[in-house]
Amino acid sequence: KPAAGFEGVKRISYEDIGGLKGELQRVRETIELPMRHPEIFRKLGIEPPKGVLLYGPPGTGKTLIAKAVASESGAHFISIAGPEVISKYYGESEQRLREVFEDARQHAPAIIFIDELDSIAPRREEVTGEVERRVVAQLLTMMDGLEERGQVVVIGATNRLDAIDPALRRPGRFDREIEIGVPSEDDRVQVLHIHTRGMPLADNVDINLIAQQTHGFVGADLAALAREAAIKALRRYLPEIDLEAEEIPPEILEKMEVQGKDFRD
Ligand code: ATP
Repeated sequence: KPAAGFEGVKRISYEDIGGLKGELQRVRETIELPMRHPEIFRKLGIEPPKGVLLYGPPGTGKTLIAKAVASESGAHFISIAGPEVISKYYGESEQRLREVFEDARQHAPAIIFIDELDSIAPRREEVTGEVERRVVAQLLTMMDGLEERGQVVVIGATNRLDAIDPALRRPGRFDREIEIGVPSEDDRVQVLHIHTRGMPLADNVDINLIAQQTHGFVGADLAALAREAAIKALRRYLPEIDLEAEEIPPEILEKMEVQGKDFRD
C-alpha cells in the first residue's frame, strides 16, 4: 500500500516552477544526479547526500521543488508534515518514522519530504517535550542508517533554519542547505505566466506590469492573485447563469473564451 501522503500527488514538472533556476539546478545536482547516475559519484569517490534542507519563507516553492524532482526523476515520493508525526502516544512517532523510511527503502529510488522539519527537530534547547527529543534521535538513527548510494534522499523544508537541531545539519545528514527566497521581479513574471497559462486572458492584461506591482509577493501569493482575478471575472457572468440548470449554456461559456482559450479546461 502506498504510504500516507503519496496518494493523489499530482505530477509536477520543472516547467511548473517559476524562477528559482539556480536553486533548482543545485537541487537536481544533489538529488537527481546521484539517483540517476550513482557511478559518477563512485568514480569521484564522494558520497551522494542523504539529506537536503530547503529553507525560506512560506509559499516560495519548497514543496513544489521536492515534488518536481520526484516526478521528473521517477522517484517514489513520500510526504510528511512535521506536526503530523508528533504523537502523544509513547513510541508512535518513532514507529511512524520507521514506517516512512522502510516504505522508501522498499520503493527506492525514493524521496522523503519532511515539511515543517523544525517542528519535529527543534534545537534541543528549545525542546520542551520528551516526544520531540525522541523523534530527533529516531530521525538521526534513520538517516545514519541510509545506504550511501543516494537512492533514498530526505528533503527537509523549514521557514526557520536556525530552529533546526544542529545535530541534524552535520555531514552525512542534512548537509546541503539551499535557500528558496522571495522571487525577484523577473521570477514573478515567470510565476504569473505559469499560473495564468490555463486562463483566458484579456488583451490588456500586462503580466510584466503586474510583476512590477507585486514586490514581496511569493509564489503562493501570485497563484492566489491569479485565482482571485478569475473568480472576479466569473462573478461578472454569474447573473446570467441559472444555478439550478443542469448545464451551463454554451453561449455563456463561449463568452468566457478570450484569445481562443477554453475556460472549461
Ligand atoms: P510552506 O513553507 O508554506 O510549506 P512552500 O515553500 O513549500 O511553503 P509551496 O507549497 O511549494 O510552498 O507553494 C505553494 C503554492 O504556491 C504552490 O502549489 C504553487 O501553486 C505556488 N508557488 C509557490 N512558488 C512557486 C513558484 N516558484 N512557481 C510557481 N508556483 C509557485
